[in-house]
Amino acid sequence: METQKFYTLPPLPYGYGDLAPAISEEQLRLHHDKHHNAYVVGANGLLERIDAARKNGTDLDLKATLKELSFHIGGHILHSLFWANLAPAGKGGGGEPAGPLAAAIAAEFGSFERFKKEFSAAASSAEGSGWGALTLCRKTGRPIVMQIEKHNTNVYPGFAVLMVLDVWEHAYYLDYKNDRAKFVENFWTIVNWDEVSRRMTAALSG
Ligand code: MN
Repeated sequence: METQKFYTLPPLPYGYGDLAPAISEEQLRLHHDKHHNAYVVGANGLLERIDAARKNGTDLDLKATLKELSFHIGGHILHSLFWANLAPAGKGGGGEPAGPLAAAIAAEFGSFERFKKEFSAAASSAEGSGWGALTLCRKTGRPIVMQIEKHNTNVYPGFAVLMVLDVWEHAYYLDYKNDRAKFVENFWTIVNWDEVSRRMTAALSG
């Protein structure tokens, strides 16, 4: 239960160098400490401005403010999910899902390989800055791949987010230059399937 009024940057659940070579220490440090933090600061700044306007009785440019708020909160939430669905290769990261998650993926996509292919293609082809996401429709129980643009476009309301992959250039450019497809390929070596499974169980029981 979230009781704090503002957002905070969560610490990584592993060391900055622990995801190398898929993500180098320098890349991860910059991504987490600078880029993710900017969304936390951005969201909190907007919330403070909204609070102040209400307190002072001044008008807000709601169209601009809400668009920005959606972007920054979306960025913060997605990055928080991203760090937690990664783990060092061979130490909780990589391999294949098991249990009900594996069964749900097989039922929806036909095979794990087919799922990987679709997810990789969705992430690789996100226009400009965006994300690949594996989500779950709580109504049908179907896992659905989403291709999120920026941090907040093409998101379906109410779907549980099981796994995300950041394909903004800031996520991989130091390590891969313009080779997003290679970054996406190496992502599979650091997926924390236990965390993805836990999210599915939570979504189905919540
Ligand atoms: Mn990012």
